[in-house]
Amino acid sequence: MPWWRARRDALLALAADRSPRYVYDLATVRQRARDLRAAVPADRVLYAVKANDHPDVLRAVVDEGLDLECVSVYEIEHVLEAVPGFPAERVLYTPNFAARAEVARALELGVHATVDNAALLDDWAALWAGREITVRVDPGVGKGHHDHVKTAGDASKFGVSPADLPALAEAARRHGARVVGLHAHTGSGYDDLGVWAENARLLGRLARAHFPEARHVNVGGGIPAPTGAAPPYDLEAAGAALGAARADHPDLAVWIEPGRFLVAEAGVLLARVTQVKRKGAVRYVGLDAGMNSLLRPALYGAHHDVVNLSRLGAPPAGPAEIVGPICESSDVLARARPFPETQEGDVVLIDTAGAYGFVMASRYNRRPPAEEVAL
Ligand SMILES: *Cc1c(COP(=O)(O)O)cnc(C)c1O
Repeated sequence: MPWWRARRDALLALAADRSPRYVYDLATVRQRARDLRAAVPADRVLYAVKANDHPDVLRAVVDEGLDLECVSVYEIEHVLEAVPGFPAERVLYTPNFAARAEVARALELGVHATVDNAALLDDWAALWAGREITVRVDPGVGKGHHDHVKTAGDASKFGVSPADLPALAEAARRHGARVVGLHAHTGSGYDDLGVWAENARLLGRLARAHFPEARHVNVGGGIPAPTGAAPPYDLEAAGAALGAARADHPDLAVWIEPGRFLVAEAGVLLARVTQVKRKGAVRYVGLDAGMNSLLRPALYGAHHDVVNLSRLGAPPAGPAEIVGPICESSDVLARARPFPETQEGDVVLIDTAGAYGFVMASRYNRRPPAEEVAL
């Protein structure tokens, strides 16, 4: 049973106070961190901060013993401020086409950085001299719930091809950078249990072939969160496969860097019904939250369960299009959903909205996006 069912009254009160609103259940975040540690034999779990960077969420995952993975210097500065005393050495920095000044500022703060091309080592040689770095490899096959979230293959801008690693190793030597780890993150939301294991085997082999100083392999994130549209992910099986794979290279530590899995279920988006209209045979339920609060349905065609929280348990009265107030025809949060008789002012809950929700919000149409509150 999702956590919010037991908190319905509190959520209705929160929505009455202000709407739209993201609400995060920190106990669920902590539970998912524990589930991961129990099921997956990783030496280090880094939370991918870009999924949800609310300060209370960051403090909860750090309190559970996780480290943090950041993709921009802005995220780094944010986490160091949000989690007082958190050592910068526990931040992994994975920039992509970031400007030199940004990378310099991040390194200055003391984080460990991932590099994904040899030219970067040559062009910015002064930045890398004497540093330990991790190298991001493109395993060559993209996985993901949508083309836009695949992060491998020639059409993807991430990583260095295995064939280019000897040149990169040479460049690193030339400039006095020590490659202490290899990394691959091959996409988000895939349902292939073997990807971590495949990455571990490939990175282990490449590390031994080209980087004698390598001590770890980072096999990425990408675990899907349960939604009404998909069967639950078998975390135990993925963990067991990773355990078997890492036995090939027992001297290499294994890191994982999940984002979505830790926070997706912990978050819901509460919105109020603005208008209900019928056009021909179609019923539209309009909300005060649109794609400027939750972009994923418009951007990826992502599925979110949607319920009328004010009338939880009421029988469906036919399908409805659940839409926002933004002037774009893609401003649809859910299509053709069985939905009860609904009226202006009802509170609607959009489920599994804790990952890639608020962090992608915008002020498009000058409309303020949903605000965040943590329980
Ligand atoms: C976004 C990202 C992740 C996390 O992906 P999830 O699908 O949220 O688990 C991990 N590693 C890198 C490099 C990322 O960019």
